[in-house]
Amino acid sequence: MAVSSKIQSAMERGSWIRRMFEEGAALKARLGPENVFDLSLGNPVMEPPEEFLAGLRRLAETPVPGMHRYMPNAGYPETRAAVAAALSGGTGLAVTGDEVVMTCGAGGALNVVMKTLLDPGDEVVIFAPYFVEYFFYADNHGGTCRVVEPGEGFLPDMNSLERALGERTRIVLINSPNNPTGVVYPRIVLDGIVDAIRGAQRRHGREIFLVSDEPYRRIIYDGLAYPDVFTSFEQGIVATSHSKDLGLPGERIGHIAVHPGYAGRSELVDGLVFSNRVLGFVNAPALMQRLIADLQGATVDVALYEAKRDFMWERLRDLGYEAVRPQGAFYLFPRSPIEDDVRFTELLRDRGVLVVPGRGFGIPGHFRISYCVDDATLEGSLGGFADALSAL
Ligand code: PLP
Repeated sequence: MAVSSKIQSAMERGSWIRRMFEEGAALKARLGPENVFDLSLGNPVMEPPEEFLAGLRRLAETPVPGMHRYMPNAGYPETRAAVAAALSGGTGLAVTGDEVVMTCGAGGALNVVMKTLLDPGDEVVIFAPYFVEYFFYADNHGGTCRVVEPGEGFLPDMNSLERALGERTRIVLINSPNNPTGVVYPRIVLDGIVDAIRGAQRRHGREIFLVSDEPYRRIIYDGLAYPDVFTSFEQGIVATSHSKDLGLPGERIGHIAVHPGYAGRSELVDGLVFSNRVLGFVNAPALMQRLIADLQGATVDVALYEAKRDFMWERLRDLGYEAVRPQGAFYLFPRSPIEDDVRFTELLRDRGVLVVPGRGFGIPGHFRISYCVDDATLEGSLGGFADALSAL
């Protein structure tokens, strides 16, 4: 067997979404694609905004000499400055381009942050339900994850957080708006997490960073203002991308931002830039950097996602499903009507509806719906949801 036993077992562990994808393909072949309602993937249906396409045409028609060459590993200074200006506007802090490193998506950003901060055996505290890739990212850099259990409404249980913080903790990693619940952490929760981190730092005499994985930051509903991590903590690090807010997951463009008030920021940014290089990313894609520099105020039409949220949450509630009402992202995480979430997702699958079992996110007894699909798919899935309940 060519594949190492470590990667084999990682593939087994991280395979829920992939498994649903494969089952979906088999189901489409069997039932016909019009009878399969695939709500398993976080691959947004929304096309990038018109400004993006116009920028792309402009670049193709009037190329800038050298625009496909290597650049500084941190990215183009103009792009870093544009990202910093948007962050300053959102937080009221004077963020500059020196605190920004352009990356290959949020996944690239998280790997660069972990490579820079973790020593072998260090711990990353994560919150269930979680994005399963966190385990693999931490492992890439010699780290391990400690999981905090959720409390009411999928907000963190603070006692569980206290127990998870130890002498090897280096990173506390949050994701708000959250995949898979759609929950947005309110300011009071962020401040509670920061208090716990400060206590652990005092106890163990070691710096701990609060990393905010926030690719859904601009997909937020009900007129909510985003509670940003920088306002709560000078050891906050943002890791994000335009995969979701501009609908560009295939283009791999994101960034890291370090708090402008963090005393060690210059050394930290040097480390991030070095890690970006030696991980083989080298720099974030050049064309994308040029394009997103002018798009810091743009998003896909978030109102359309909000309408999908309303539609799915209300219809499922009317059918008898229970779910926390999401305030952002494009996922719902209902309770499985039977304890065995895998069994329930099979019942749905047999009715042409594909979702992901909650155990793929560390919380059995639930399942995840991605509603970033077209309305016909959402409408078409409702029969299967009703039928699966009546079959119990
Ligand atoms: N973090 C979370 C919570 C996500 O849901 C995703 C993608 O679905 C990522 C990170 C990775 O995003 P990117 O495609 O920008 O690497």
